[in-house]
Amino acid sequence: MGAKYTIGTIASHSALQILKGAKEEGFNSLLIATPEREKFYRRFKLADDYLVVDNWKDVLSEKVQDELNQKNTIIIPHGSFVEYVGAKELLDFDVPMFGNKAVLEWESDRRKEREWFVKAGVGTPENFNDPSEIDRLTLVKYFGAKGGKGYALVENEEDFYRQFKEFDPEKMQMQEYILGTRSYPHFFYSPLDKENELVGIDLRYESNADGLPRIPTPHYMPPTYVVTGNIPIVLRESLLPRVFDMADSIIKTSKKLFNPGLIGPYSLEMVITDELKFYVFEISARIVGGTNAWIPGSPYTYLKYGENISMGRRIAMEIKRAVNENKLDEVII
Ligand code: ATP
Repeated sequence: MGAKYTIGTIASHSALQILKGAKEEGFNSLLIATPEREKFYRRFKLADDYLVVDNWKDVLSEKVQDELNQKNTIIIPHGSFVEYVGAKELLDFDVPMFGNKAVLEWESDRRKEREWFVKAGVGTPENFNDPSEIDRLTLVKYFGAKGGKGYALVENEEDFYRQFKEFDPEKMQMQEYILGTRSYPHFFYSPLDKENELVGIDLRYESNADGLPRIPTPHYMPPTYVVTGNIPIVLRESLLPRVFDMADSIIKTSKKLFNPGLIGPYSLEMVITDELKFYVFEISARIVGGTNAWIPGSPYTYLKYGENISMGRRIAMEIKRAVNENKLDEVII
């Protein structure tokens, strides 16, 4: 590499593997942290530099942006980064950020997200526009809700109004509940290789949905879906070609919707039924927390690379190649 670049992120979510991957690929690593978080992250000794802020919104200040730019920093936005700093605010953030910022608009609005799935031709659960249309078990979701906060299951219109005052299409989505097993494959789309890579697969461990089977039926209560952790899984090998087909179609469609499309890490969140039908209910268009379950590398990265490649390292590899080939403008849009 010519000029020394720094890979930076904020102290949460998947920061540890982002820093580790940066070091493994020969970059400086920088962590933006609040004083309380700094203490925890220092235990791992993975950041060369710490930039301490009193609150996350300070990331947008001129002072912090200047400091990041002086250090030739490329920011890796993870889920908490976008949540803490704000998707809209990030559009004006004047520090190079890995990926295509245009994706923020497509994944933060569940209606746009659905349009993307439908155009890509991937199976997705039915949506209802009015409570009177509910004719099966339905999950009521809030836009941008993190970890399923405030979700509720409803069976029909009456049940809906028992649990909610009104339906607000600007904030809520009513989606058919799909019974099956969940699967969250993590992909990396490389604009340099023009290839989709499967980096790992996880399952979210969700409270109380995953705790309910441990209590007898008389004590049943409505499930909640607050993520508390992630479990690494593999899929039946015969299902993998279909997962790749969906991912290829998602990328191809993204290029039509917001050219040059989705770049780098993303995850398709899906349910697979007993008829082996796939229903994609959400896309996270950046590194997801579930990749933490595969930091030493997954079976799929082992098969492709034969060494320990985490998603954090895969991102750093792409940046390194872009630097060396003078193609940073293909990975930072
Ligand atoms: P995040 O933003 O962290 O991805 P979220 O708050 O947007 O989470 P979702 O991922 O949409 O929430 O859903 C939370 C959980 O609810 C899922 O992990 C899954 O267990 C369940 N879920 C969501 N949609 C469906 C569906 N249509 N059918 C069955 N289960 C679902």
